[in-house]
Amino acid sequence: MFPEYDVVVVGAGHAGCEAAHAAAQMGAKVLLITMDMTKIGQMSCNPAMGGVAKGQIVREIDALGGMSGIISDQTMIQFRMLNRSKGAAMWSPRCQSDRMRFAEAWRLALERHPNIDFWQEMVTGLRIENHRVVGLKTSMGLEIPARAVVLTSGTFMNGLIHIGEKQYGGGRAGERASVGITEQLVVLGFEAGRMKTGTPPRIDGRSLDYTKMEEQPGDEKPEKFSFTDTRA
Ligand SMILES: Cc1cc2nc3c(=O)[nH]c(=O)nc-3n(C[C@H](O)[C@H](O)[C@H](O)COP(=O)(O)OP(=O)(O)OC[C@H]3O[C@@H](n4cnc5c(N)ncnc54)[C@H](O)[C@@H]3O)c2cc1C
Repeated sequence: MFPEYDVVVVGAGHAGCEAAHAAAQMGAKVLLITMDMTKIGQMSCNPAMGGVAKGQIVREIDALGGMSGIISDQTMIQFRMLNRSKGAAMWSPRCQSDRMRFAEAWRLALERHPNIDFWQEMVTGLRIENHRVVGLKTSMGLEIPARAVVLTSGTFMNGLIHIGEKQYGGGRAGERASVGITEQLVVLGFEAGRMKTGTPPRIDGRSLDYTKMEEQPGDEKPEKFSFTDTRA
């Protein structure tokens, strides 16, 4: 059913979108598999791109010809250079983007690329022959041949959500965790662990008295992420 792809990317978050686009730009035939096609390029928790460390990475990706900076610029609402009070090495670009436009822009960029195909499903394992990955298996029992597989599964593999004292399995609020690959990687001798991230509580803006708050505006002269002059 499936041709042999040069590259299959598992997960269509920021990393997977960039990986699929980079491989396709280099001429590879790419399949991008993700659990929910409506969540391609989803901004996980904050509708923000960049900040300390990630801001530098987004600019490095841009210098290498990637799309994250361009898409952030196209969908930007506000830009701030963080840590300006410190030395230049500590400055960190961060923008707030329109969450929906950001996801839409990524999806359009990928859909327009002739080398990228899409598949919506959970990948449950890798196919391995002679110590090499030769493809993967999906939850419907499909087998997809691939010359290379890129795992960009974010917070989803055996993901666990903690809310106060409660815990439940999940990749992101409202989305289930993915299972199967972690167990297989452990059998293959990899170590598996879980990194913790923290989401600030969501509050109803209508319950706030904004007159008692101090506005934190964006920079007076906003910069952008991309070194190109691409801007919609
Ligand atoms: C609490 C929190 C706050 C954050 N704040 C910021 C911020 O302010 N600024 C910023 O730039 N970044 C922020 N981030 C980081 C940002 O969300 C991540 O860097 C980015 O989303 C990670 O992208 P990713 O592609 O690695 O993974 P994800 O966005 O997690 O995407 C993973 C994708 O893989 C898919 N997937 C997983 N397993 C499978 C499988 N087995 N089969 C098929 N598909 C699968 C999922 O469906 C999903 O589409 C924050 C993250 C968190 C958790």
